[in-house]
Amino acid sequence: MRIDIITAFPGMFQSVFGESMIKRCLEKGLVNIVLNDLRDYTADKHRSVDDYPFGGGPGMVMKPEPFFEAVEAVMSQVAERGAARVILFSPQGSLLTQKKVRELSSLKHLVLICGHYEGVDERVRLALVQEEISIGDYVLTGGELPAMVLVDAVVRLLPGTLNEASLQEESFSTGLLEYPQYTRPREYRGLKVPPILLSGDHEKIRRWRRLQSVKRTLERRPDMLQEMSPEELAEIFKELEELEREEAE
Ligand code: SAM
Repeated sequence: MRIDIITAFPGMFQSVFGESMIKRCLEKGLVNIVLNDLRDYTADKHRSVDDYPFGGGPGMVMKPEPFFEAVEAVMSQVAERGAARVILFSPQGSLLTQKKVRELSSLKHLVLICGHYEGVDERVRLALVQEEISIGDYVLTGGELPAMVLVDAVVRLLPGTLNEASLQEESFSTGLLEYPQYTRPREYRGLKVPPILLSGDHEKIRRWRRLQSVKRTLERRPDMLQEMSPEELAEIFKELEELEREEAE
């Protein structure tokens, strides 16, 4: 997979991409991340990427020309132009979910456009972008942090990055939140690990985890259950009853 990031602040990415999982993936060649400095596509001596808004109002708006030229330069470097998905980060976009992350992780080429200041000239959205993505209902200073969030979430799903089993069980993959996790020591400051996890009985542990997962989702994110079909919900509630009965016995 190739990921191009178009940004006026490429320095922001160095530490995040130079550590941990993304660093390992880059070293293994599982992903190629290209940082494109938007200022390289400006024509004036100040390398300006923003200008005053037409119609007045506060702040500055990012100019269209550097984005058009940067995207054209990126496309000229790839054999398959049609394989690219061009994404603009915006608080007005559709919310990034694990489902969307999974879809994006199956693509060959992502081009991520980071806005800044008051935002980006609307013509960029109209002519260059296939999708607008938001990482939440709040306003950040720029699209750089959202780009890091998206890259992290996508790259960890690429084959060869993480253990397949840990991906299958984690929150959102199963439609449920994950169960609580414990490690050594068995007791810390009077807080004990649930005895069932120390029992060595794998089937009991599996069922306990499933029960915790269902309970947590009901308590914390009942909205996630609304996305399930009536049949899936009936199955989950039946299982919950059975698991609670077993636990009480
Ligand atoms: N004036 C814009 C508005 O009210 O919709 C907000 C602009 S924001 C200060 C500057 C840039 O940060 C945006 O163009 C976008 O690229 C990025 N950004 C801010 N919040 C974001 C969010 N929640 N998700 C994705 N991108 C965001």
